[in-house]
Amino acid sequence: MFERRVTRSVNVGGVQVGAGAPISVQSMTTTKTADAEATLEQIYALASSGAEIVRCTCNEVEAAEGLARIVPRSPVPIIADIHFQYRLALAALDAGVACLRLNPGNIRKEQHIKAVASEARDRGVPIRIGVNAGSLDPDIEEKYGITAVALVESAKRELGYFEEVGFDAVKISVKASDVRLMVDSYRLLADTVDFPLHLGVTEAGPPPGGILKATAGIATLLNEGIGDTIRYSLTADPVEEAKAGRQLLEALGLRERSSLDLIACPSCGRAEVDVISIAAMAQEALTELHLPIQVAVMGCVVNGPGEAKGADLGIAAGRKRGHLFVRGQVVKVVPEDQMVASLIEWAQKIASDGVEGALAAADKSAAAEAEADRAALLEVQGDDVNQSDAIVELIRKR
Ligand code: SF4
Repeated sequence: MFERRVTRSVNVGGVQVGAGAPISVQSMTTTKTADAEATLEQIYALASSGAEIVRCTCNEVEAAEGLARIVPRSPVPIIADIHFQYRLALAALDAGVACLRLNPGNIRKEQHIKAVASEARDRGVPIRIGVNAGSLDPDIEEKYGITAVALVESAKRELGYFEEVGFDAVKISVKASDVRLMVDSYRLLADTVDFPLHLGVTEAGPPPGGILKATAGIATLLNEGIGDTIRYSLTADPVEEAKAGRQLLEALGLRERSSLDLIACPSCGRAEVDVISIAAMAQEALTELHLPIQVAVMGCVVNGPGEAKGADLGIAAGRKRGHLFVRGQVVKVVPEDQMVASLIEWAQKIASDGVEGALAAADKSAAAEAEADRAALLEVQGDDVNQSDAIVELIRKR
């Protein structure tokens, strides 16, 4: 595992950010904040999809009034997103939000910034300094261009104002839609300050391209130990943002698995079944069970069970049948049309009895039957299942 960068810590309504706390997932509502009921509905959907902190825009007085109704009923801490109008930051603090996000590029008057920071200090509410490459202070942009240095200078200027009023409950983001610029900016920021960092590739766009871009930036930094909270900025239902954030952290081993992790081989000419459709059916059926297990769908018994032996449960297709295995040990051979149903049955067994319990209840003769099947296939395909000798010979002849 990579070492996490050492940072200070801020408390966002009970969610610790920084100082080694679990990396948290954020998202943002797309409803009108003034419509408290619709916004709460979306916040609940986000929370159940993995969001641990949710941001709502506070762009008008009615939105601040909405926040006052949302905050007490929200299952997760609420951050108010502020642009241009510092008075709305003060109104959001009055509404009881757990954190503010200020864009230093569009609230520029020193006395306004200090007024907000002083009020946040008195209330014990943290602020995210949310710098965006697309909305830099004009003088900073003129001096440094749209560069990593410019983004970090913008954050430093805001920090300077905060320091003057004795406020340091801060986390920072330096987002850009250009992945290289985003990565460079966060690296520079991480070398410059010890505040916790909120990672994101801004305006990443719709999936799948948006997920790719955001993952390229966020995962690169997380693998360097940089980043304390993350947001995927997708042009999609924000539930997709929360899911993507959660999945990334689980894939990197930064959070415990909370839901299904389906691994499947990409299929090839050796596949004995339609791996793509079986994997899709398994994904749909198993997702509904909400079990935090890893399940493998492999297209052949020649390579499948071995390559997926780390999975809690898996199936590898043989001749018109599937070899069901638990942690690499074959427990049952099932007809092809029962492969998905068997996966569901055994996933439930593992959920109720654990892996050891499921293995103890396994049919002892299944392994022998599976091995005979595998041997029969090997006989046809040869001992060298990857036909490496033949391939090497072919290459030599060329
Ligand atoms: S598991 Fe079998 S079918 Fe799937 S990609 Fe590997 S060799 Fe091909």
